[in-house]
Amino acid sequence: TAAVQAVNLVKVYQTGGLPVHAVRGVDLRVDRGEFVAIMGPSGSGKSTLVHMLGGLDGRTSGEIWVDGKRADTLNESGWAILRRQKIGFVFQFFNLVANMTVADNVELPALLGGSTPRHARERREYLLGELGLADKADASPAQLSGGEQQRVALARALANQPQVLLADEPTGNLDSRNTRDVLRLLGEVHRQGQTIVMVTHDARVAGLADRLVTLLDGMIVDDGAIAPPRRRT
Ligand code: ADP
Ligand code: ADP
Repeated sequence: TAAVQAVNLVKVYQTGGLPVHAVRGVDLRVDRGEFVAIMGPSGSGKSTLVHMLGGLDGRTSGEIWVDGKRADTLNESGWAILRRQKIGFVFQFFNLVANMTVADNVELPALLGGSTPRHARERREYLLGELGLADKADASPAQLSGGEQQRVALARALANQPQVLLADEPTGNLDSRNTRDVLRLLGEVHRQGQTIVMVTHDARVAGLADRLVTLLDGMIVDDGAIAPPRRRT
């Protein structure tokens, strides 16, 4: 079964004036363990597509399947449960819980997903350590820079070892050092089997993926394996 799949997925925004056809019949199947980068010009429907895959935007028509189960027919609470159990999200705008420490923010999804407190703590220590945030565990989100908050949001999204990680420009606001930390962690969890669907405009970031999907005007115009770098001899 696919980790996540879209079947003839369509999104039309109806706002006052003319309808906006943001996603126009996308078929996308992401197998377990795949790392897919989604690229395309601004306004091509990338964000709308990943938002729909996570149930954050409703679809106009078509089907969404997560881990072999039909998801587009779920109501809001059904999506909330599915997200808690199977989906991790990182977006440019992340909402950390303001009155909880960084450590508690990261541990919460694992605890809600049924991890033991000890396992949740160990996972949090691993993720924050990899992201260079070990010394921020007891801070509150408001004490962190934007880039630090973004990395905490990534740690939180991965806390539960979700069936699929959906990431919308996860390095969007980061400087090059923090970008490198985020990419190293994404590469590492991918090697551990994490399925990742990531929107990016940065070809270097996309180079980490196994497969590149290109959107144009709400349609997939290219979908293929990324050639591994040629070996130098
Ligand atoms: P991308 O992520 O590739 O930049 P988006 O998915 O954000 O593209 O947007 C695709 C199209 O849908 C654009 O024309 C955008 O203006 C439009 N759009 C996105 N969100 C909304 C919204 N909430 N209401 C109306 N139109 C929207
Ligand atoms: P990104 O570039 O990160 O994909 P966008 O600028 O497309 O983000 O969208 C930011 C927010 O504005 C989103 O919540 C999106 O739904 C909304 N949005 C984008 N385009 C439009 C639009 N044409 N009309 C109304 N809302 C929009």
